Formats: sequence, structure tokens, C-alpha cells
Amino acid sequence: LHCPQCLAPGVEVELDEGQARYLGTVLRRSPGDGARLFNGQDGEWLARISTLRKQRCTVALEERVVAPHAEPGPWLVFGLLKRDATDLVVRLATELGAERLLPVTTRRTNAGHTNPARLAAIATEAAEQCERLTVPPIEPVRTLAELLGGWEEMAGGRHLFAAIERDPQASGADAAPGETALLVGPEGGFAPEELELLARRPFVTPVSLGPRILRAETAVAAGLARLHFLASP
Ligand code: SAM
Repeated sequence: LHCPQCLAPGVEVELDEGQARYLGTVLRRSPGDGARLFNGQDGEWLARISTLRKQRCTVALEERVVAPHAEPGPWLVFGLLKRDATDLVVRLATELGAERLLPVTTRRTNAGHTNPARLAAIATEAAEQCERLTVPPIEPVRTLAELLGGWEEMAGGRHLFAAIERDPQASGADAAPGETALLVGPEGGFAPEELELLARRPFVTPVSLGPRILRAETAVAAGLARLHFLASP
């Protein structure tokens, strides 16, 4: 379970209502049972449930069971989608090991505002579910042109694999995932001038995700899975 506070032996933590419900109703835990907590910095901790009522749960921290460690992964740059599709992208990207999420608007973006708190909550829940010890930060929305203009300064040598359907130049993405990023376009795909902009950048390589046109959410899952499995032991 994710807990934003500092984790140390003996500390008492009050979990949020959803976590209390999850422990009591879904996992059927009782006072005296164990629970595992992480905050994204201090590794994973074993805690003992002190009190558990319907929507309230307090736990006492005992010991660290997993030391803090980096979870390097590809960054995901994605064309902003409608609300449910963006929610799905955030969940999938968290499960598939994306280290950082960078939403962009493009010529053909057809979505309104994002709700950063809602997206952060989805990423946190997905991290809890898949037992990641870090929650990927979700950057404020930029335009694709802004992102490409500032890429080298922000991303160092990280290479950007742009998922582009039907591109004869597109190939496989064979590089260490901690040094890569995946770019997926919006529902309408990239506009011709954006494809030109991408083609001019030395840090961009077009990648194919197969012969069929995938929905953007599917392309995120397929592209990240490809980079993620390259990283798996
Ligand atoms: N409207 C576009 C068209 O019909 O050509 C399709 C855009 S697709 C729904 C959304 C995004 O998914 C694309 O911009 C691309 O980044 C990615 N994508 C979908 N299928 C792909 C494939 N086979 N290879 C690489 N990228 C793909």
C-alpha cells in the first residue's frame, strides 16, 4: 500500500479510507495481521494492523523488508486522449514499468483538460496493484513541439522511439529501457508536419508495432511491453 509519509520503525500510520476498505473487505485482514507499505523512497515496510474498522485503519511499522532501489524504465510520451483512455494509458504504463509519463498535445489532439490529482491517484493504485515501489510522476501537459525542443536538456541521451504506423523506415526498439522513451500519437495519429519534425531529430527513431493500426492505448501497451521485456531478468 502506498503511504506518502516517512517510513521508520515504530511509526503509526493512518491509512486512507480506500485502503482500509481494501484491507478489511477485499483481503479480509484483521488487527494483528501484516500489511506492506511503500512511499516511493524508503523501500517496502512490514506493518502490523493496530485497528481496523470499515473506513479506518491504523498500522504500526515494524521493519523494512525490501531496500530502496531504482526502478529504471522507459519514459512514455503520449498524445493526450479522452478521459477514460488517458486513465487506461496511465494504468497500463505504470504496470508496464514506465518511469515517467509525459502527456503531449499534437495537431490532432481531441481531448480537453487533464486532472493531475486523478491521474496521480490512478498511477498510485496501479503501483500498489502490481507491487511497484515507485509511482511514475506525470508531467504537466506540453505541446509535442515544446517537448522535442527541450528533449536533449531534459532527457540527456535518452532515445525516443516514435511509434509510427506504416512507416517504411520503422524498425525494432533494441536499447536498454532505462535509456529509452516511447512516443505514441493521439487517436488521429501524427500530422504530416509532425512526422517531418520527428524525422529531423537525431534522438528519434521510428518503430513499428506490427502491420495493423492499433488504438493509441493498445499501442502504448504493445510498445511499453516490448521495451519492458527487454529489461526483464
Ligand atoms: N488515425 C491514424 C491512421 O488511421 O493512420 C491511426 C492513429 S493510431 C489510432 C494512434 C497512435 O498509435 C499512432 O499515432 C501511433 O503512435 C500508434 N500506432 C498505432 N498502430 C501502430 C503500429 N502498427 N505501429 C506503430 N505505431 C502504431
